[in-house]
Amino acid sequence: MEEFYKLSIKEKLKGLKESAFSSLELTESYLQRIKKVDKKINSFITVLEDKAIESARESDKRYKEGSALPLDGIPIAHKDIFCTEGILTTCGSKMLSNFVSPYSSTVVKNFSANGSVILGKTNMDEFAMGSSNETSYFGAVNNPWKRNYVPGGSSGGSAACVSAGLASGATATDTGGSIRQPAALCGLTGIKPTYGRVSRYGMIAFASSLDQGGVLTKSAEDAAYMLKAMSGHDPRDSTSLNVDVPDFVDEINEDIKGLRIGLPKQFFSMNLPNYVEKSIDESIKIFEKLGAQVEDVDLPHIDLSLPIYYVIAPAECSANLSRYDGVKFGYRCEDPNNLDDLYMRTREEGFGAEVKRRILIGTYALSAGYYDAYYLKAQKCRRLVADDFSKAFKSVDFILSPTAPDTSFSLGDKTSDPVEMYKQDIFTIPANLAGLPGISFPCGEHQGLPLGVQLVADNLNESKLLRMAHYFQLNTDWHEAWPEIE
Ligand code: GLN
Repeated sequence: MEEFYKLSIKEKLKGLKESAFSSLELTESYLQRIKKVDKKINSFITVLEDKAIESARESDKRYKEGSALPLDGIPIAHKDIFCTEGILTTCGSKMLSNFVSPYSSTVVKNFSANGSVILGKTNMDEFAMGSSNETSYFGAVNNPWKRNYVPGGSSGGSAACVSAGLASGATATDTGGSIRQPAALCGLTGIKPTYGRVSRYGMIAFASSLDQGGVLTKSAEDAAYMLKAMSGHDPRDSTSLNVDVPDFVDEINEDIKGLRIGLPKQFFSMNLPNYVEKSIDESIKIFEKLGAQVEDVDLPHIDLSLPIYYVIAPAECSANLSRYDGVKFGYRCEDPNNLDDLYMRTREEGFGAEVKRRILIGTYALSAGYYDAYYLKAQKCRRLVADDFSKAFKSVDFILSPTAPDTSFSLGDKTSDPVEMYKQDIFTIPANLAGLPGISFPCGEHQGLPLGVQLVADNLNESKLLRMAHYFQLNTDWHEAWPEIE
């Protein structure tokens, strides 16, 4: 069937269970669509045709034997930041352009243990640093809604592939907004869970205290299926939370009446384009109609978020990326004169400009004499932002804001001005600083480009976030639109 890709995960599971179609048919139709469409989008770095067909056959066997797993036969894609055993894992960088991982990340293992089929690995900003997918060594990704526009970043490949109907859903990571901002720019639902909900084992590190894996899907319901499969305690990740994973799918239908939404004064006094404001006002009205209560909240330190992030994230990245030295794995420069030359030329040639900028900033911020003035100070301010949220969550269940300051922008539009690019994450970064879960879902469009609204909740309240997005989606159809890419 040509239009398989339009089915929800729930519908696909039903069809597979009732033998209306097989996973092989489903997987082959996705592979064909990837062949046809991805030339125009560039959302995949690696397509795993043979492996996908092999696992689809295994899924079909399990359905026949009556031993099907929760996501059996559902074709998905993984961001190329998740290590996959025996498969190229590049993190969007020349540095890892030849790296075949000897092991799989917990996230990848969890999905496989749930029976899902891996179609391939998706394009991304180099080491997840960026907001437009333009820092990838494997080339920019086009937004399926308008092809000379960016899909957002750093999970731009995951977002573009799901938005174009090239996978049922895709894994992604969010250090400062890289799930939610591309979700907004591509018209998808994207959830960043609470820090520690999803294991970081085998998820290539950018800024360890901020990085968190999550998913990009068409709907909140699809996201619930995927989040359920990927979450859980992992003894291999010391920051993984040892808490039960709720049944996100079952809980999605619970009522949202009486839930309280906070509108932070600081975000609503900004000068945003009128179509962004309008889409947010309309979203608030929909939630009010559904029985939610809305009030203003104060997050007095929220304005510090961007500068705090751009000290902490580079500091942590400079430490994490020191392992790429041309000795142990990955890219190595040719004919080094000596060990120093090997280190220096490997890093000079293997890293792109944005990654180098962050390593320089981070190394500076961590150096003796500057550590207290920058890194320590940023950590103290980070606590103030987290405390603002804790206070706000005493009176409300959610903080609502736009996800991004505007719709997508043209390729090349912001590449010469890093600070303009950094501002893309002004609404998303605070949740990472505080470790809180956040979700973005489609709430409008402007000139053919999607707009997203974001909700942030208190720790471990992913279920509530999915429920809010689900009810919103039962009453709107923004999430049902498909771009015309043929
Ligand atoms: N755009 C932000 C950055 O460049 C966030 C990236 C992310 O969440 N991985 O750092």
